[in-house]
Amino acid sequence: MSTSPAADRSPGAPPSPNAEGTIFDLDTFAVHDGPGIRMTVYLKGCPLSCAWCHSPESRAAAPELILARDRCVLCGACVAACPEGAHRLEDGRHVVDRARCRVCGACVLACPQGALQIKGYRVTAREIVRRAGRLRPFFEHSGGGVTLTGGEVTMQPDFAEAVLRGCREAGIHTAIETSGACTWPVLRRLVEHTDLVLYDLKLHDDQAHRRWVGASNRQTLDNAVRLANTGAHVQVRVPLIPGITDTQENLRDTFRFMRDAGLWNVALLPYNESAPAKYEWLDEPYTVTGERQPPAALAAILAMARDHGLDARVDG
Ligand code: SF4
Ligand code: SF4
Repeated sequence: MSTSPAADRSPGAPPSPNAEGTIFDLDTFAVHDGPGIRMTVYLKGCPLSCAWCHSPESRAAAPELILARDRCVLCGACVAACPEGAHRLEDGRHVVDRARCRVCGACVLACPQGALQIKGYRVTAREIVRRAGRLRPFFEHSGGGVTLTGGEVTMQPDFAEAVLRGCREAGIHTAIETSGACTWPVLRRLVEHTDLVLYDLKLHDDQAHRRWVGASNRQTLDNAVRLANTGAHVQVRVPLIPGITDTQENLRDTFRFMRDAGLWNVALLPYNESAPAKYEWLDEPYTVTGERQPPAALAAILAMARDHGLDARVDG
């Protein structure tokens, strides 16, 4: 995704600080994406499609239009403003023909309710590092730093590497969150400039992974083993999705895999039911059902992880 002129660089040369990336959010006071207070940058684009994804607006690599239906009062201002005819009001419903949208933003400006938004914008690595630099007192006080997440951070390797290098040079702690669904050279490249790798493991069974995540888990598992061998500081993160990833079988297989690979640190992420509203923004269905695991169930999962010798905690 980066537009940095990678082809003009000699092999092994670092990407330019002016490398551009597409992000869809930036949180300057995050507390769940690594130690301390963090500036978390959300990169757009993901090769996976987890059924429970909390950021469906992160999947597409390019900026896109979202509609918060709960704010829309069907006034028709967007219909009049759109040069492409992408909006229409039909039988009391607002229909967005996304195939027509050129993401010009005219309807966003026209909407009196703030119901429309473009998710995703271009930014340089230099700008991200500059913003991080302004937060350095908070990072130093709290032991925090910068976390790159997504989407999938490895889809924009030049931009991500340039941000990580820039932060490191400024003495700022760096973390990435990744599914490892990428080639090993790309992951290794980013890990070299990262102080903490938050590594997502979802489903150990490949068929189940294909069904719920939309791709094989082969790269993820292979890269996890390679990562462990680098000696990088890794924390595995396991989302606990009711009846999908939180089953005894999946957790047992995941914890065994971690133990055998030499990955000892795991954060268990209880189910959070807040995702469905975002799917409405994009007119996409959300099919996962269930509730946050009760305390007794979380305690049992924690115990299972510790029985495998893991340093485990519930996060969130
Ligand atoms: S962003 Fe532009 S092209 Fe897309 S729906 Fe709005 S006005 Fe139409
Ligand atoms: S302009 Fe805003 S409130 Fe009016 S119909 Fe469009 S999205 Fe709804």
